[in-house]
Amino acid sequence: MGSEVVEMRELPGVVSIREVGPRDGLQNEEPIPTEAKVRLLDALSRTGVRRIEAVSFVHPKAIPQMADADEVWQRATKVDGVRYSALVPNTRGAQRALAAGFTEIEVVVSASDTHNRRNVNRSTAESLDDIAELIDLLHGASAQAEVIIATSFGCPYEGDIDPARVADIVDRVVADGADRVAFGDTTGMGTPRRVRDLLTAVRDRNADIPVLLHFHNTRGTALANLLTALEFGVTEFDASVGGLGGCPYAPGASGNLATEEAVHMLHDMGIDTGIDLDALIGAARLAEDLTARPLPSGILRAGPRTALTPHP
Ligand code: MG
Repeated sequence: MGSEVVEMRELPGVVSIREVGPRDGLQNEEPIPTEAKVRLLDALSRTGVRRIEAVSFVHPKAIPQMADADEVWQRATKVDGVRYSALVPNTRGAQRALAAGFTEIEVVVSASDTHNRRNVNRSTAESLDDIAELIDLLHGASAQAEVIIATSFGCPYEGDIDPARVADIVDRVVADGADRVAFGDTTGMGTPRRVRDLLTAVRDRNADIPVLLHFHNTRGTALANLLTALEFGVTEFDASVGGLGGCPYAPGASGNLATEEAVHMLHDMGIDTGIDLDALIGAARLAEDLTARPLPSGILRAGPRTALTPHP
């Protein structure tokens, strides 16, 4: 066996975490009162996190957890230096988000046609046509449009998703003016190999579009995936306080990567996030109280590495 030289790219010094607990997290939990949502949002705004996905503007019948999005957002304390964003499913939602004052807005399409049809009763191609119009609407109102590509690493109905298919979708939304693309590991099927394959396929064709990664820890691979993406120069990641938000396809399974797990690892690697880990753990405890269920975060269970007492 010959020796192999492994070249490792220098890791970034700063990572931008977008906290998605108030939206993606709470949307996948049992509904909690408006006041509780405001408390969580406010606690997170005080952690030093620079981006928060605050709410989604969806039809209350479809997602009752977000029925009070307008009121939550009105009552939340907006902290200087924090960028708040909202997720919208369609034009109606985009108009509500714009009226509420959001200037960073996310829309979702699924790389899997079956998943997209089950979610919004439209093909991926039809949704991409809608998104082109949404991007125009948002840009006309001086807002940024991020396109989240769900099931980028695999689909619960179709299984593997060809990275070339995801790269085609990126080509399309870049042509339509998207300001950023995000890749969602909707059901936690991602692995470092799949992250590598996807980022290679996308970067070969679109080197310049800002990329954000949204990992789930359903099968324990979220931090490994994050590390792999860092080696590709990706610096933007979603994470959810406490690991809030289960897996919609596997009751009882964990979903979103816990923010404090990501922050704990990144800080130990000398990578800045701007986040105060103690304040974040406080927010995670609050999230656990408010949802009245144990959250899957390893840091919540064990405490941070620095809290360990030395072995006698
Ligand atoms: Mg998620």
